[in-house]
Amino acid sequence: MKITGIRAAAVDGHGEWILIQVLTSTAHTGLGEAFPVNPGCGAAACELVRWAEPFLLGEDPCNVSRIMERLYRHYTNRGAAHSMSLFRAVLAGVEIALWDLAGKALGAPLYKLFGGKFRDRVRLYADCHAGVTNTRVDIHRSAEEQGAYEPGAYANRARQLMAEGFTALKFDLQRLPSSMLDPFNRTLSNAEIRTAAAQLTAVREAAGPDVEIALDIMSAMDVPSAIRLGRALTHLNLLWMEEPVPPENLDALAQVAAQAGVPICTGENLYTLHQFEQLLLRRAAHIIEPDFQKTGLLEGKRIADLAHTHYVPVAPHCVSTPVGTMASVHLAAAIPNFLLLEFHEFDIPWWADLAEGGRSIIRNGGIDVPEAPGLGVELNLAEVRRHTLHGGLEG
Ligand SMILES: [Mg+2]
Repeated sequence: MKITGIRAAAVDGHGEWILIQVLTSTAHTGLGEAFPVNPGCGAAACELVRWAEPFLLGEDPCNVSRIMERLYRHYTNRGAAHSMSLFRAVLAGVEIALWDLAGKALGAPLYKLFGGKFRDRVRLYADCHAGVTNTRVDIHRSAEEQGAYEPGAYANRARQLMAEGFTALKFDLQRLPSSMLDPFNRTLSNAEIRTAAAQLTAVREAAGPDVEIALDIMSAMDVPSAIRLGRALTHLNLLWMEEPVPPENLDALAQVAAQAGVPICTGENLYTLHQFEQLLLRRAAHIIEPDFQKTGLLEGKRIADLAHTHYVPVAPHCVSTPVGTMASVHLAAAIPNFLLLEFHEFDIPWWADLAEGGRSIIRNGGIDVPEAPGLGVELNLAEVRRHTLHGGLEG
């Protein structure tokens, strides 16, 4: 099997989903997905895929490490080695497509290429964002006006997703202008701390003691606010508080991790083993959340293995189509320290339709690890085309 070409499509989904297709001299094609690092990056991502193409043509896709090493070395000074680089994410997507092909060439599900599986099923957590009301959504009124941030709405959302089988939930911290001390500093007001505590208390009361609850801060706080908020939530037994402060300063994060009284999770904005090594050595996180559509699977496995030596669990960040989600499922199956995988796409009703047979992918808050060769998922190209903004896939 030789690689004969590479295609990409940007799909209008959670941001612009970047789908990658590697063509070969056989009937097999490989599918991958890259995280859309920058707003409106779809056209640029499709162009970057063309820059990778000369390194793939004529290669045996089973030589994944060799192909990727050449790409990373050649483009080291053009974004391939950099965090937050669209090119690095695109290369992660290329790598996933090569693994899909390698699995198909060898007749093996992808997890077997990473040492086999620890589990048959990967448990998801539901990213809930905020609460839901029972009233019809009015697009002319804000979520705040419609009560989406009321504690009762948070409890509604928890009950709704538990009814679908989810046993782990995540909500976002909402900073509402009406209760902020200042629109630019990162300091929480007492009212904001009280509101977050009331929202999560309502979730805990609705969910009971055994459902896992996490809170995503999305880098919004300063160090003292993160410590104060964590301490105000300690009694709720949260699974984690995510990205409490911006991702660049690991010493600041380590201060929060030592003092907040709540496990800290971070990593969706880190791309490399070197970065995760520093995070772990400085004891700045209790749980890590690498995004394999940013790191790729080779680096993702190295990151997970390093975390394992620190007794740190891995809860991968994932906001992808069924392609990226299934790539994450295989790696989640193949690492001992997997905790939970994110599922975020409740607001995109055609998410499952992007894949052939996609409606059966998620069952009871989890995904069965596929046994078909490669990723074990193929795209419904008609549905992909319906939402394509830039580029295009063959077939
Ligand atoms: Mg997050």
